[in-house]
Amino acid sequence: MYSNTPEASPRSSLKRKLLNLAYETGLIRAGRGLWAKSLTVVNYHRIDDPYRKDFDSFKPNVSATPQDFDRQLDYLAKWFNVVSLKDIVEWLDGRKDLPPYAALITFDDGYLDNYTSAFPLLRKHNFPALIFLTTGHIATDAPFYWDMAAYCFAHTQSDHLTFPDGRVESWSNSEQRDQVAKHWIELMKTLPQAEKQIYVDNLPVLLGVSIPTGFFQRLMMNWDQVREMQKEGIEFGAHTVHHPILTRISLKQAREEVIGSKSTIEDELGEPVLGFGYPNGQASDLNESIERVVADSGIRAAFTLLSGPASQDEVKQNPYTIRRMFISHKHSLADYAMLLSPVNRYWSG
Ligand SMILES: [Zn+2]
Repeated sequence: MYSNTPEASPRSSLKRKLLNLAYETGLIRAGRGLWAKSLTVVNYHRIDDPYRKDFDSFKPNVSATPQDFDRQLDYLAKWFNVVSLKDIVEWLDGRKDLPPYAALITFDDGYLDNYTSAFPLLRKHNFPALIFLTTGHIATDAPFYWDMAAYCFAHTQSDHLTFPDGRVESWSNSEQRDQVAKHWIELMKTLPQAEKQIYVDNLPVLLGVSIPTGFFQRLMMNWDQVREMQKEGIEFGAHTVHHPILTRISLKQAREEVIGSKSTIEDELGEPVLGFGYPNGQASDLNESIERVVADSGIRAAFTLLSGPASQDEVKQNPYTIRRMFISHKHSLADYAMLLSPVNRYWSG
């Protein structure tokens, strides 16, 4: 998971009007002609409706509703050539060229809606996709702490929470409650693993919530579903076993997380795993030592969440820091087009 989508503010309405105008006039694709030799990688987590009444897991992980995802696939079909990881590896090996405006569709974590909602739409468009699995959460009831927290906040009768640093945050409606949940999850990201685990284990007690057995297992895909998708051209990459931020654990632990995740997928699918997605994927979440661990494991391409499309030259120079665009359900189709535009590189650096 990763989430950083800013809330829309009234001040941004002029910017939004300009963006919509740029989208409608096609200006949004300015400079595109100079970017034919590029690789544009989009990053999804979940395809679902976060506003449905019974949605009780982590909303910021929802990348798009099925309807929006379908429209985004239409946009890719119109302006890009969707490729697979296999195409990229063969290109890295010098065995073939990538098409102009190459695009790769990726998903992180391994949520069940990738199978139930995204997969049928990918098949409709005849698109491959690459799904990064956090293997410790596939076919187990182990929760991601952000989903566990979201569940507790959605079902609590309480109206406040005391944070580990002693401050108390309270809420009087579901929007405020979602904000407090988000603050708590962001704080967890900054803590060392062992300390984080104590607060995570304690949250249901503090909020007076008991979680039904199997709840988190039902949120994720199982191996039969993964194998069924594999047969239909969906590829799978590693995303660690437990989803730690790799710069916050020892290099030895990082190696175990990478290799453990890779070998479990290989045992289940009977195929070498060639792709890796860094958990959280920001600049501070990886470094050269970690890139080397990933490369030494036999992975051929690794993906960050640094935004913006990449030139093919850049990717060839270092296929272990490939950029991806994080997609949020708050993005309109104009936002999506802007994220995928070369202009995004000049804005995001
Ligand atoms: Zn993730």
